[in-house]
Amino acid sequence: MIAAFYHPGFAAPIGDHLMPMRKFALVAEGLKSNPEVRVMEPAPVTEEDLRLVHTPEYIRAVRTGIPRALAESQKLPWSPALFPSVCLTNGACVAAARQAQRDGLAAALASGFHHAQADHGEGFCTFNGLVVATDALRKQGEVQTVAILDLDLHYGNGTAALAATRPYLRALSIYGNDYQANVAYRDVTVRRHTDGPNHLSVALPAGCDGDGLNEILDRHLPDLLKSGRPDLLLYQAGADPLQEDPYSPLALSEVDLLERDRRVFAFAKQHALPVAWVLAGGYARDVAKIVEVHLNTFKAGSMVLASRA
Ligand SMILES: [Zn+2]
Repeated sequence: MIAAFYHPGFAAPIGDHLMPMRKFALVAEGLKSNPEVRVMEPAPVTEEDLRLVHTPEYIRAVRTGIPRALAESQKLPWSPALFPSVCLTNGACVAAARQAQRDGLAAALASGFHHAQADHGEGFCTFNGLVVATDALRKQGEVQTVAILDLDLHYGNGTAALAATRPYLRALSIYGNDYQANVAYRDVTVRRHTDGPNHLSVALPAGCDGDGLNEILDRHLPDLLKSGRPDLLLYQAGADPLQEDPYSPLALSEVDLLERDRRVFAFAKQHALPVAWVLAGGYARDVAKIVEVHLNTFKAGSMVLASRA
């Protein structure tokens, strides 16, 4: 049984926005008929836990809308509904991380918010749910070390920046779009960010197909273990590497992404790592395609849970 944390309050009324908020509801709906998944409601993250990662000034801005530029730094229009919504999505990340410790696998039907920085948001990411979950669990002594595997199309710049001051965290971002100008990454010789000892990145070449991705995963997944086996793996399972995605320069089908997820879960099982995953990006015009990729991650999870180690 895989727990999936979802709350109808995830979707802040942000109008006809690029971020397809309704995909979270569609994934929750799609899971209703899956007897191997239990959809559960998370509690909102506490402001105390947010403060483990984010500055009081930034948290206050998102709560009150003042100053407006900071409250909207993630590029979502501010309204009083924004703060309760992002507290629920971050609460889902914390709940999934906690549940994974018990069940081996759990999911938050929310984004991981990997662009969010300590003192401001970026790229639709308000608070960094991956690092908030890490620090919330560490505070309670539930984990000591955490690895974050980011396979969203975009480079996880916020997670990398937050990892730089957290030696107990190990972050690996395998991306096809360098995010900074949000144009597809086409020249692997150009790198606009610096890796650190505990935050690494791997650029996928333009046109990367399933075989190419599998090879890179097999080569780099062991990087997650280089500072010792972590107590928990947080997995950002983006749907935007899909070839139909407007930002993707990659040649990955939904079948390739299902195999990606299967490999990640099999690697985790092999090393007895509990995994909590989040849905992250996905901007293909046909929302059914995005939902299919996210539902496939559950399929991959069930396959690996059922398989013999
Ligand atoms: Zn993305």
